[in-house]
Amino acid sequence: MKDLGANNLIGRTRAAVWHPCTQMKQLEASPPLAIARGEGAWLIDTDGRRYFDAISSWWVNLFGHCNPRINAAIIDQLGKIEHVMLAGATHAPVVELSERLSSLTGLGHAFYGSDGSSATEIALKMSAHYWRNVGQAEKNGFISLQNGYHGETVGALSVTDIPLFKDTYAPLLRHSVQVPTPDARLAEPGESAEAFALRCADALETCLAVHAATTAAFIVEPLVQGATGMAMYHPAYLTRARELCDQYDVHLIADEIAVGFGRTGTLFACEQAGIKPDFICLSKGITGGYLPLSAVLTTDEIYAAFYGDATARGFLHSHSYTGNPLACRAALAVLDIFGTDQVIAANRAKSLDMTKALAEVAAHPRVRHFRHLGMIWAFDVIDAAPAFATRFHQAALAHGVFIRPIGSTVYLMPPYVVAPDEMTLLAEGVLQALNLSLAA
Ligand SMILES: *Cc1c(COP(=O)(O)O)cnc(C)c1O
Repeated sequence: MKDLGANNLIGRTRAAVWHPCTQMKQLEASPPLAIARGEGAWLIDTDGRRYFDAISSWWVNLFGHCNPRINAAIIDQLGKIEHVMLAGATHAPVVELSERLSSLTGLGHAFYGSDGSSATEIALKMSAHYWRNVGQAEKNGFISLQNGYHGETVGALSVTDIPLFKDTYAPLLRHSVQVPTPDARLAEPGESAEAFALRCADALETCLAVHAATTAAFIVEPLVQGATGMAMYHPAYLTRARELCDQYDVHLIADEIAVGFGRTGTLFACEQAGIKPDFICLSKGITGGYLPLSAVLTTDEIYAAFYGDATARGFLHSHSYTGNPLACRAALAVLDIFGTDQVIAANRAKSLDMTKALAEVAAHPRVRHFRHLGMIWAFDVIDAAPAFATRFHQAALAHGVFIRPIGSTVYLMPPYVVAPDEMTLLAEGVLQALNLSLAA
């Protein structure tokens, strides 16, 4: 078969692939990269051009592409069993992963899905089902944060609050209640992030006082609201939310799908607030960006409410690929790397170096709200033109960096394997892309 090269791949993708989160017509002006392979933090296209994957392939990649240790684990598992259904069967990778996630989160049994949205669905259903099992079936509503994001499936979209994704499907969605976001950018002049977070927690209390009797759970992205544009907030909000959820008998669901596995500087973001949620949703980085997998862990008390002789009392939810052995082995390899390479400690130093490298960006006259937590950096561009995100994306590509701004917010979420010289290159790329896209 004749290899027709990159241009043809782009033509064929436009003809055959419906790309996610994309107005397909825009691919005429802004074609996708045709990626042939990956190497560490780099993506290499079919013409051999290299791009630094500065957003970790939609926030999933932790230890680089084609990581030898994760590759080896998957290859080893391929020689044993690629998949077996998890109803009526079990296997070592899923047992070991469940044990390790439990000891890391302090939560009990792990229930598996295939992606983040299904983890959200599982947590919402489990929470409402718990209340039904304990005789409080009227507690089946949900509270979430303004500007929050929990996925695109109909249930997850119901607790999401991003108009661009949500409004079109509004007639399909179940009503949920939104409370003010503690996004530190919204603090009054002179008000600290902590004081603002506590003020927002008061609003949560007011909401709970009205709705607790009909509310199953409050679902939240801990510390960073990713999809709205890396909105960051003070951990005091979560500490107070935990107290309020206890006080008003409402579950706290921590959606750590984006922030889990070290993104915010601790293995899980909730650790920074010193809290344990009733449910934790994990996905994205869980397999190092290799295979689709999500997990929901919950307390022994909630688990126990499903345990009994009546079948319908059990959690009768399933996905065909639940607990896929290859994905679990990738996840175990990721946890091994966290341990042997002391990744959390190493990232602390990297985080400081990267912030230093971005000093000129942070001081740029068109940049405001430069913010940073763990391995996430973000800033907002003042008076950005409507086409800013596309222009910036293309200007950055010309400098060998793959970045996709969210509106006027530019963010970096590099794989943890980012090296010192790559930080310099990344910072220069951002600065040049910024100047180019603003000059255009
Ligand atoms: C990405 C994301 C999801 C959805 O995960 P998918 O795998 O894309 O379905 C849910 N919640 C948060 C916080 C996310 O960032």
